[in-house]
Amino acid sequence: MKAYKYRIHPTKKQANKIDLQIEKGRLLYNKLLALKKDAYKNKGVSLSRKDLYRQVKGNREMHSQVSQNVADRIDKAYKNFFARIKRRERKKGFPRFKKYGTYNSITLPQITNPSNIGKKTYFPKIGGLNVKYHRAIQGTPKTITIKKAKSGKYFVTVSCDNVPKERITIGNGKVGIDLGLNHFIATSKGEFFDHPKPMKQLSNQRKKLAKLFSKTKKRGNNRNKVRTKLARIDEQIANTRNDFSWKLCRKLLEKYGTIYLENLNVKGMVKNHYLAKAITDVSWNGFTNKLSFKAESAGGKVVKVNPKNTSQKCSGCGEIVRKTLAVRTHKCSHCGLEIDRDINAARNILSIGEIGQDLPKYKPVGDEATTDGISPKQALSMKQEALV
Ligand SMILES: [Zn+2]
Repeated sequence: MKAYKYRIHPTKKQANKIDLQIEKGRLLYNKLLALKKDAYKNKGVSLSRKDLYRQVKGNREMHSQVSQNVADRIDKAYKNFFARIKRRERKKGFPRFKKYGTYNSITLPQITNPSNIGKKTYFPKIGGLNVKYHRAIQGTPKTITIKKAKSGKYFVTVSCDNVPKERITIGNGKVGIDLGLNHFIATSKGEFFDHPKPMKQLSNQRKKLAKLFSKTKKRGNNRNKVRTKLARIDEQIANTRNDFSWKLCRKLLEKYGTIYLENLNVKGMVKNHYLAKAITDVSWNGFTNKLSFKAESAGGKVVKVNPKNTSQKCSGCGEIVRKTLAVRTHKCSHCGLEIDRDINAARNILSIGEIGQDLPKYKPVGDEATTDGISPKQALSMKQEALV
């Protein structure tokens, strides 16, 4: 399944209809969830998806399939909940009632006339929508979702089946990549790729707005206005970042069929408040996930290696060359190598990857995960340079 998302500009009348249908969806969600909880509590019965379908039958306020999809969402929420218990995750996420404003979409799970998508877009109880398909849909359209984002903008998402695989000609090079804070990444071949330019401006704007927000009165009108603006900026930041990440993935894979990355436990690191902002800003996690995904679908290979000592070791002779965080250049007095410290790290990552080193398993110790002698904190202290 692949999803295609488009912004829409509904008329005022349509927007009202969409808002109303979403609100009806929310109320139905809460009603079904209450039924499911009660049935279990009072009778020890677990209502199945079909039981829930029976409950929505005859509901004339929403299209039958759209209301069935609400039942599907509850079913899915429970399945995810049990899966999390099975995986012994700390956050269980028991399905909860949806407050006003926290339920923001409706889905038609079976598009009746898929061949029409791309020309006319119809959603039951709302009517024909004017969608500009700036990116052509591929495959067979299956489901269509209308969403109202926190920013107040409306989006349509069409999910498709049988989407032909994207054709990237995977390069045959091998490369090590150092994920940095100064540059977004540095490669063992000596390349740097930097953050998208508008990012800094956007994040400054966001900072100002966040400050403004904290000064507004609670429940005030102004607070809502600022909140909407914040949501818009967040949307822009996310779009810029995604766009940049996908393009970079493509660029790298077209050159390198095998890519070695450091396996940094980003989740563990984000807990460290001091670094949290910087890390989420550069969003390594999002990037490496995209890279792995894209490599897999196109036939490339992304391998994560233990980052131990990668920034301190000399990639020329293997000696440990201690350097403070502020030192940008790796200078080795043993072999005379003098290169950018991130490139040195990227070269080490490449050679660790090429030797074929097994990743140590993460052993959870209290709240923090530790990996064979190197804690996420230590891994990070090697990465903090740009913050100093
Ligand atoms: Zn050396």
